[in-house]
Order: sequence, then C-alpha cells, then structure tokens
Amino acid sequence: MADKFDLETAKRLFASAAEMVARREAEFSKLDAATGDGDHGTAIKAAIAAASVSLQAATDIKNGFVDAGFATMSATAGSTSTLWGAFLMGFGDGVKEGVDALDAPALCAAFESALANVRMHTKAAVGDKTLMDALIPAVEAMKGAADVKSLLRVAADAAKKGAADTVGMRAKFGRAHNLGERSVGHADAGATSAAAILELFADNF
Ligand SMILES: [Mg+2]
Repeated sequence: MADKFDLETAKRLFASAAEMVARREAEFSKLDAATGDGDHGTAIKAAIAAASVSLQAATDIKNGFVDAGFATMSATAGSTSTLWGAFLMGFGDGVKEGVDALDAPALCAAFESALANVRMHTKAAVGDKTLMDALIPAVEAMKGAADVKSLLRVAADAAKKGAADTVGMRAKFGRAHNLGERSVGHADAGATSAAAILELFADNF
C-alpha cells in the first residue's frame, strides 16, 4: 500500500472513528459531566457520524472534506460540531485542487489549514482545557514528518499528551468555565475524544 492518504483511506478511517466514538459515547459524556454539562459523548457521536456519512458519498478528497465539514456543522448545534465542522472544512480547503492522494507534506498542509479554520471559531489556546489542547500540539508535531504513517503517529502521541495535560488545567471556555477550580482534576472531554480519533487514525492507517 502506498504511503498516501487518499479518499478511500479517509472513508475507512472516518467510518472507524464514527464506530469508536459511538462505542465510547457514555465515557466521553461522563468525562464532560465532571467538568461541564455532560453532553460531549452525544455531541462527538453526532459530529463524527455526520462527517462519516457525508464522506462515504464523496468522489474527491478536497470537496469530500469541505462537504463533510458543512454536514458536521449543520448536524447539531453546539461547539463540538462547529469546531469539528470547521476542522473538516479547513482540511478540504488545504488540499490542492485535483490531488487525490496526500503525501506527508500535503497531509500536513491540510491539517494546518484545518487548524487555522478552527482558530477562526475559537479563541482557545493551549492551556485553556479544550479540544485545542489536543489539536494544536498534534499539528505542531507532524511538521516535517517523513511519511504519512509517522506523521499520524507523532500527531496522535502529541494529542494524547496534550489531552492528558488538561487534567491539571482550569477551564476558561464553555460551560466548564463556570465550575472554575472544580474543573481541575479531570481531562477535558473534547481534547480526549480528539486524541482518541487521532490515535485511531495512527493505528489504522
Ligand atoms: Mg459539554
């Protein structure tokens, strides 16, 4: 198998990710209940399901991700679908027209574009106990990766560490913010699910 991230790869990985988040729905909601409103399992399940369903119908990787982003954003209200929708849309925007298989530099460019688009929708940075604590270090870590397999692995490892780091953080955004110090001691649910998705990508590429 060529070391490239193509549309078939994306379809397969997102179908697996949709299954995984559905299987772990209660776990993600329970984590969110400790620091927020307890809806993250439901939200991430709906978001990734919408993304996967849309992607399965795609005929090219660029427009497939842009369409999946729109589908995810319009699936449900709330920050999870907004931010994941922005991520997917930005990913599609970062793919060059006519390219159907991404090598490591092209995949990195797509992820950088994805992150840039998420930043248009949230001011959260590393340390704010959100999804960004997983995404920002993941995209930073993948720069210069020699091949797609190692790119996905270093991204997953960085996201996992970033999500673990949120345990000690105090939330500054979302409903978790209202809990103040009580948000310390539990990992952020959004960072945890993002790290789990990136780990699944690395394991199954
Ligand atoms: Mg929540």
